[in-house]
Amino acid sequence: MKIIYSAIGLKSFRENDTLNVAFIPTMGALHDGHLHLVKTAKSKGQFTVVSIFINPLQFNNKEDLLKYPKSIADDLKKLSEIETDLVFIPDFESIYPSNNFNEIQLPQTVLENVFEGKHRPGHFNGVVQVLNSLFNLVKPKYVYFGQKDLQQCMVVKKLIEFKFSEIEFNMVETIREISGLAMSSRNVRLNEKSLNFASEIFKSLTRIKQLKSISRIDCENEILRLKNYEISTEYLSIVSLPNFEETFEEKNAGAVVFAGVIDGVRLIDNLLL
Ligand code: AMP
Repeated sequence: MKIIYSAIGLKSFRENDTLNVAFIPTMGALHDGHLHLVKTAKSKGQFTVVSIFINPLQFNNKEDLLKYPKSIADDLKKLSEIETDLVFIPDFESIYPSNNFNEIQLPQTVLENVFEGKHRPGHFNGVVQVLNSLFNLVKPKYVYFGQKDLQQCMVVKKLIEFKFSEIEFNMVETIREISGLAMSSRNVRLNEKSLNFASEIFKSLTRIKQLKSISRIDCENEILRLKNYEISTEYLSIVSLPNFEETFEEKNAGAVVFAGVIDGVRLIDNLLL
């Protein structure tokens, strides 16, 4: 497994190869969800590049950024075990060169300004900036993103349509703990009790998915139910895809989406309908 730490290093590597690269951007603290993305690309025989970069621009909450878990040695071990081909661990200057950083402006629609966009102002703009920089450096042919961050997937698809039409976008299913809780780097900050309580999120999403017709009341009831488990819901609703417009009409319902806080840790999840 090759490891590259700078934009210059990656540029010179990419200049001398003719690889069709599959790219999986991450912020590290890797778990089986991340590894599943790599394994999916590997199962297609693709050359896999994983980046590890905690992108300050996408954190609207300073404390969340400071507390974001870091485990580079462990991450490298996991990536090497599944035979990742290349790991890119850039420094800030490699991603945002002070003498040559051009901010990209994605045309704004509803998508960037609702749900995650509303609750985390500036978040998607930060995601778009880091991916613009990473895509330009890595020059992937394929990219893999997790359904766990469904709204991010829709933003990435839009970025690709806008500027990187040569890239093939792939969305990969959410990997869960046995309890149903979606794997997340932030789960390590939860104690045993909160982990148990957090598994109620998946139960709520499943109950809503199983309903024949869904109303706002059903979502509100689940929000109340989650309160009993010390989960403070920011949103639990039904959206259309790809635009994330709230809807309770069956023909437009694309996904049930959730965000909430338990024990000071913000979690998100969703199920496709
Ligand atoms: P992050 O490190 O949180 O930026 O995530 C990197 C990539 O892993 C993103 O495409 C996420 O959607 C994806 N991911 C995170 N958690 C999971 C999961 N539980 N299952 C599948 N993919 C995931």
